[in-house]
Amino acid sequence: MARRKLIAGNWKMNGSLAALAELRAIADAAQDAGGVDVAIAVPATLIAPAVAMAPGLAIGAQDVHAAPRGAHTGCVSVDLIAEAGARFSIVGHSERRADNHETDAEVKAKAEALRAGGLRAILCIGETLAQRDAGDAEAVVLRQLTGSLPVGTASDWLAIAYEPVWAIGTGRTPTVGDVTAMHGAIRGHLHALIGAEAVAVRLLYGGSVTGDNAAELLGAGNVDGALVGGASLTAAKFVPIIAAA
Ligand code: PGA
Repeated sequence: MARRKLIAGNWKMNGSLAALAELRAIADAAQDAGGVDVAIAVPATLIAPAVAMAPGLAIGAQDVHAAPRGAHTGCVSVDLIAEAGARFSIVGHSERRADNHETDAEVKAKAEALRAGGLRAILCIGETLAQRDAGDAEAVVLRQLTGSLPVGTASDWLAIAYEPVWAIGTGRTPTVGDVTAMHGAIRGHLHALIGAEAVAVRLLYGGSVTGDNAAELLGAGNVDGALVGGASLTAAKFVPIIAAA
């Protein structure tokens, strides 16, 4: 099955109202790119103005609470981000798993809340350098996948981003062979978990993707797109990655 490529940006705790002007050129490039889906996860306060700035672009959040409402100071629900115009959210990013001690079960509940609310999810998994050096990378990643995979995965509402923690923001990337091996293992494990529905799920690679290495990384086996941090902050850096897809 041919899966459309997805190039997703993650602004993390960066950007500003002024920086949203970058989205215009990104939206133009997305339109020109035809067969490629483009999405940007902005800070929650920027979702509504980002949608207003670039209505054609899929704007999303970087995290969401699993509960629909209630006493969760500082958190935002699926309904709140949807009302702001978000079409998706990232869940389980390694920075949240590390900084906020998010568990696989919590990540799974967040993804399921997104699906129930009619939004898409980008679910992140990935090993640390210590885990890779110990030879445990695949076991760790497949365990995270088993633990955080939402129920009812059928259809393309879910994308999975393999992001080795040691490659995020470091300028280091795995070899194409390593990416192919890990994505093959993830694809195989998905088939084992959910059967034929696995074919619709897009597998993204994330970690130090740039305009210079995008074509090579996107050409690795079972790579259906990229999740891009630093290089998604400006059109000048992000548009070449869209073009490489
Ligand atoms: P990076 O971040 O592209 O800056 O390495 C990727 C991510 O954390 O999603």
